[in-house]
Amino acid sequence: MERTLQHITSIAHLTRSDAEHIFHLARKFREDFHQGIHQHSLEQKVVVNAFFENSTRTKNSFEIAALRLGAKVVSFSSTGSSVAKGESLFDTLQTLDAMFPDVIVMRNSLSGSAEYATRYVGASILNAGDGKHEHPSQALLDALTLLDVYETLEGKCIGIVGDIVHSRVARSNVLLLRLLGAKVFVCGPQTLIPTDLSTWNVQTCTTVNELIEECDTVMALRIQKERMDAGLIGSAGEYRKFYGIQMEHIETKPSLYVMHPGPVNYGVEIDFDVANSHRSLIRKQVTNGVFIRMAMLSVLKGRE
Ligand code: ASP
Repeated sequence: MERTLQHITSIAHLTRSDAEHIFHLARKFREDFHQGIHQHSLEQKVVVNAFFENSTRTKNSFEIAALRLGAKVVSFSSTGSSVAKGESLFDTLQTLDAMFPDVIVMRNSLSGSAEYATRYVGASILNAGDGKHEHPSQALLDALTLLDVYETLEGKCIGIVGDIVHSRVARSNVLLLRLLGAKVFVCGPQTLIPTDLSTWNVQTCTTVNELIEECDTVMALRIQKERMDAGLIGSAGEYRKFYGIQMEHIETKPSLYVMHPGPVNYGVEIDFDVANSHRSLIRKQVTNGVFIRMAMLSVLKGRE
């Protein structure tokens, strides 16, 4: 009997069998979708998509995922709501919860805000990104995309390059990739490497060239300007030279795959022709995002 979960706020709360169950459901939803089979399992449910921070992929894909399961979706963003008038996170959550939604999918710039929300609402909380803490659905869709290529991640070497310190994508990915048996390597400017990296159980590389030599797939991260003080990196050109993924990298290692959670800064962390080449998994990541989010919505218990 698979576990149902009250909330999903962190990969750290999932077991390997929870993750595998989510992959299994996501593959089933993908297969059914391609065969034209419709899902109705959330027909009587209401999902609130509460995005206090900007989003294109995650917001739309959670919305599409909920609709594909038959749920009703209400989308909330801080601009245009009473958050813009100064209403607190606590009051906003309590107000939304007083309308009895079944699930609140939440993105907020405060690290730990999703966990905080679980204390004050009866709805299930799905963390769609909390500051620089975690982004569980991104890690799950990334892992599903990798599993489509490799079948197992046991012993695979996966590299993450860029702004590690401000990245919730890196934190969730490291936890999940290690849970699935992969070896994780990280690389980035010293100013963007967390000071507690020794507790992450990852290996490090100094340049992207070294990382590519070591790894089967390399994931590039966006520089999180909105979460950083000025002066942590030099020019875009200098960054690209040491940490950007360029055409010559995929030419010299034809087995290499590249990933990026988006949005992409072309010519900084990854070049346009690399991101749009046959070695790029970026579009597959986006497509898998919908099926993973359908699976995540399906394993939730809903209102307590
Ligand atoms: N979309 C991802 C996130 O929300 C990555 C990024 O914004 O750089 O964390």
